[in-house]
Amino acid sequence: MLIHLRELYGKQEKVHLADKIDISDIVDNHLSISKSGLVHTEADAIYEAGNVRVNAHVHVDLELICSRCLAAFEEPLDFSYTELFSNETPKEDEEPADIDDTVNVVTEDKISLDPYTKEHILLELPMFPLCSEHCKGLCPACGVNLNEEACNCTEELTDPRWSGLKGFLSK
Ligand SMILES: [Zn+2]
Ligand SMILES: [Zn+2]
Repeated sequence: MLIHLRELYGKQEKVHLADKIDISDIVDNHLSISKSGLVHTEADAIYEAGNVRVNAHVHVDLELICSRCLAAFEEPLDFSYTELFSNETPKEDEEPADIDDTVNVVTEDKISLDPYTKEHILLELPMFPLCSEHCKGLCPACGVNLNEEACNCTEELTDPRWSGLKGFLSK
């Protein structure tokens, strides 16, 4: 999605844009994403106080890998973000009012919003994806997925009541 900065300068009305982008490059390099649909982005761009403000809404259907049981599960992402763009370098004495209001100073007349959308997708991803809050994970001893089946080693490993008996038996 291209934002034509120069066309927006001095305009009163906002420009609405919609696009679908492919993020296979991210999927290939990210361990916790197994699949992704196209990323639907809708954005409004408006010239405001010397900058172009872009409010974007992003929707993408992802398939993530659970960090506990390693199973793939569907996870739709739906979020909004805002970026400010300007072709002018802010003056030295002008401190940015807020960290969220940091202006992206660019040299191009047209900028692609895609790298910003991709960056925000990465920020929205959970650090440790979970297929469910109650995911039991894999048995550390035999490796079975404990959400799907039970094994005999589980209780011995996790039940503290067995530890005393184990110590007794090993004497
Ligand atoms: Zn899981
Ligand atoms: Zn086991």
